[in-house]
Amino acid sequence: MSHPVHYRITAADPAAHLFSIEMTVRRPAADGQVFRLPRWIPGSYLLRDFSRHLGPLSARSAHGPVTLTALDNHSWQAAPCHGPLPLSYTAYAFDLSVRGAYLDRERGFFNPTSLCLEAVGQSGQSHGLRVDAPAPGTVSGDWRLAGPLPAAGAAPFGFGDFVAARYAALIDHPFELGHFDVVPFRVCNTDYEIVVSGRHRGDLDRLARDVARICEWQIRLFGEPAPFHRYQFQLFVGKDVYGGLEHRDSTALMASRDDLPVHGDDTLSDGYLDLLGLFSHEHFHAWNVKRIKPAAFTPYDLSQAALTSLLWAFEGVTSYYDDLTLVRSGVVPVERYLAQLARTLTAVQRGSGRHKQTLAESSLDAWTKYYQQNENSPNAIVSYYQKGALAALALDLKIRQDSHGARSLDDVMRALWRRWRDTGAGIGETEWERIAQQATGLDLGAFFDQAIRSTADLPLQALLQDAGVTVAWRAAQSGADKGGAPLPTASDTPPRAVIGVRSAADPAGIRLTHVLDGGAAQAAGLSAGDVLVAIDGLRASDLERQLARHRPGDSVRLHAFRRDELLAFDVIVQAAPADTCWLAPQDTPLWLSPAA
Ligand code: ZN
Repeated sequence: MSHPVHYRITAADPAAHLFSIEMTVRRPAADGQVFRLPRWIPGSYLLRDFSRHLGPLSARSAHGPVTLTALDNHSWQAAPCHGPLPLSYTAYAFDLSVRGAYLDRERGFFNPTSLCLEAVGQSGQSHGLRVDAPAPGTVSGDWRLAGPLPAAGAAPFGFGDFVAARYAALIDHPFELGHFDVVPFRVCNTDYEIVVSGRHRGDLDRLARDVARICEWQIRLFGEPAPFHRYQFQLFVGKDVYGGLEHRDSTALMASRDDLPVHGDDTLSDGYLDLLGLFSHEHFHAWNVKRIKPAAFTPYDLSQAALTSLLWAFEGVTSYYDDLTLVRSGVVPVERYLAQLARTLTAVQRGSGRHKQTLAESSLDAWTKYYQQNENSPNAIVSYYQKGALAALALDLKIRQDSHGARSLDDVMRALWRRWRDTGAGIGETEWERIAQQATGLDLGAFFDQAIRSTADLPLQALLQDAGVTVAWRAAQSGADKGGAPLPTASDTPPRAVIGVRSAADPAGIRLTHVLDGGAAQAAGLSAGDVLVAIDGLRASDLERQLARHRPGDSVRLHAFRRDELLAFDVIVQAAPADTCWLAPQDTPLWLSPAA
């Protein structure tokens, strides 16, 4: 135990979802060592206060117990003492997400941000970590351990010792404990492994083949060599789970087991397409946000929100390249890519919040708005992922058109990458745009003013038309219609009647989850949370089917409970708006070809 800071983590009580942690600081600060736990995890812009899951802390030096004083809800100070100073505590781990920690008898997972206190003032020193195997009989079968941190004595996928050069490196490495498959592959002299946990019958060889092409394309985009020697994808598959979190040389992913490809079936399901997009997204982040990053994240201050108006450039641009990688590496055909793109156009078009919040504002307010969405969010905010991806597309097309094909967004990404490689500096709030203009030799000021700092719609109709793709809009056929395809048959049926709500099933009828600005329901006084119990005097059971009996302009009487009070509303139903996009390419658009 030669490291200045050392942790020993044990899956101590899987049935109670408790990890136990013993932390030792070799030379505590003379005036009283301060410890603190991060309030957020990089990549997920919400104060999560992981300290809420910690049990009581205790400290005992060679001379007896050491008093710990809470400085606030996430930091503590030990009484002055001579080292070494050991500290012990437990962490409750029952957060089934990629951002926290989880432990039961079947599986364990943790980000060190949830378990490992920072020894303030010693963060730049080397940190040792030992992860113990759980006691026999406390978990199902024999567990293995997967973590991308360099091992110091641990066998591959075995429990044992790991080492991190500093605290920031320690907390950038998630660990998976339990039963998992490992599929290795190697591209561009870089070793990869996909670690898959959770029960499944997926074709992991096909997954690895496709992911290898994605990784290779992205490494070549930025230029070899990759900025890591080894990269680990950790994928947990389950039911009703989805998410990903990027790290410097790994990522933790969650998806439905049904999204994995099936042995002997080489069709490309929508679920598998989304899964490949998730792998692609997080891998792209290894360059864009884990290395090229806002100055506001250089370094990360995990004790408070780190505000930047640039999240569109890190999440939006990454969201653009995630699916673009799939088509340009030849993993998915052009028509499937365009269908995905049309669904993004549809999603943005359906939120009137796009006319109230700019991309810069959406980025800056992510902590309180995007990450804390409520029933009014579609009316109030725009996603820096979705509109950000569209802004990146518009920028790519504009650069290609204004430079007559000589430049593209790829050149901007490579310029950002070179700058990071040469300086390691963060991107100041106005620098991203300046670098884009330098890399392309174009005046993009007016474009950025509109795309990033105004709520005007992006000029995509014209840009896509010039790129050989016609943008077409129609009304949604149903609530499940997310766009991407034309209507199956040209029809002259009258437009569908809607009332401008989103809803969910409720034991008593139909619960309104969102009431949209400008919609008939809002005009009539309905609110989110109202439970419709009758439509036109009949029990409310299927809003779409029951409204389909009406023509736009009809008045429909709705009965709803609001806090147990029965209310009646006369709603003038509207025609479904033309907010559903599909894209028709004239040829294979140039910017989507592998040589683009
Ligand atoms: Zn992302």
